[in-house]
Amino acid sequence: MDRVVIITGAARGIGYGIGQCFAKTGATLVIADVNLEAARKAAAQLDAEGAKQSMGLACDVTNIQQVQAMVDDAIKRYGRIDVLVNNAGICPFIDGMEMSPAVWQKTMDVNVNGAFYCIQAAAKHMIERGKGGRIVSITSLAENVTGPAQVDYAASKAAMRMLTVGMATRLGKHGITCNCVAPGMILTDMTRHYWEQPGPAEMIKTRVPVGRIGTPTDIGHAVVFLASPEAYYISGITLRVDGGHQAVCN
Ligand code: NDP
Repeated sequence: MDRVVIITGAARGIGYGIGQCFAKTGATLVIADVNLEAARKAAAQLDAEGAKQSMGLACDVTNIQQVQAMVDDAIKRYGRIDVLVNNAGICPFIDGMEMSPAVWQKTMDVNVNGAFYCIQAAAKHMIERGKGGRIVSITSLAENVTGPAQVDYAASKAAMRMLTVGMATRLGKHGITCNCVAPGMILTDMTRHYWEQPGPAEMIKTRVPVGRIGTPTDIGHAVVFLASPEAYYISGITLRVDGGHQAVCN
C-alpha cells in the first residue's frame, strides 16, 4: 500500500480529479462526500484507475462527529493517514446585498468550519503517529479577488487560507506541511452553468494566457506535488493553478 489519502467532497468535480492523480501513484484513497453511494462509486472507479483498496464514506464536513468518524474509519481500516485534502466547498453565487444570513452561515460552515474540523482531527492522528503528514486545502483565486456574487465565498476562502497558514506554523515541528492550491476557472458542476454560455466561453480564450479552461486534473497534479515527500520544505503557501489568469491585469 502506498500513501493513505483522505479527500473531502471527492465524489465528483475537482475532488475526483485530485483522486485520479493520486490513483496514478498507487495511493489508497478515502473518498468522503455527503452522498455515500456516489462516494463508494467514485472509490471503485478510482481503484480501476490505479488506486488501491480505496473506500467511499459519507461525511458532511460541517458535522464534527462525522468528520471524527471519517478519520477513525480510515485509521481502523488502513492504520494511518498520510495526506488530508480539504476539497469540499460550496459557492452559492448570490449577490452580497441579497444574501440571507443562512446562506452566509452555510458557506462559512462548509468552507471554513469543515476544513478546521478535518485539519484538527487528521493532524491529531499525524502527531500521535510521529511520521509527519501533508495537508492541502483547495482555496480559490477568491482568496484574494472577488465580485458582488462571491462576497461570502471570497471571505470563506480567505479564511481557509489563513486557517491553513496558521496550522502550518503550528504543525511544522511535527513534520506536517500545510498548503493551499488556488484553482482558477475549472469546468465542474459548480461552474458549468456559467462557462458553457457563449460569452464566458469566449472570454476564457482572451483572459486566460494558456487559452483554455482548467480541468480537475490540472488541480490534482499540483496537489499530488504538494503532498509528495519531495515537497517537505514547502509549507504555508498558496500555489495558484489558473493558467496565468490572475497575472492578467486588464
Ligand atoms: P462541485 O460542486 O462540482 O463538487 C463539490 C463536491 O463537494 C460535491 O461532491 C459535493 O457533494 C461535495 N460537498 C458539498 N458540500 C459538502 C460537505 N458539507 N461535506 C462534504 N462534501 C461536500 O465543486 P468543484 O469540484 O467545482 O469544487 C471543489 C472545490 O474547489 C471547492 O472547494 C471549490 O470552492 C473549489 N474551487 C472550484 C473552482 C471551480 O472553478 N470549479 C475554482 C476555485 C475553487 P454534493 O454533490 O452532494 O453536493
